[in-house]
Amino acid sequence: MSSDRKECPNCAVEVEEGSGNCPICGYEFPKAKSRHHLFTWVAIILIILFLIPAIALLIHALK
Ligand SMILES: [Zn+2]
Repeated sequence: MSSDRKECPNCAVEVEEGSGNCPICGYEFPKAKSRHHLFTWVAIILIILFLIPAIALLIHALK
């Protein structure tokens, strides 16, 4: 019955799962972690894509 609801950690009222903040006290619920992880992975991939040619050039220059 309360599967699609979450409890506000600040005032313990039940709010809808999709809502970003508590309607009673205005507590902001943290966003889904998956989006943060996705951004982190995109950043890591971009760094790798930038580093591989740089390392290849460095190895080529050292030869
Ligand atoms: Zn609240």
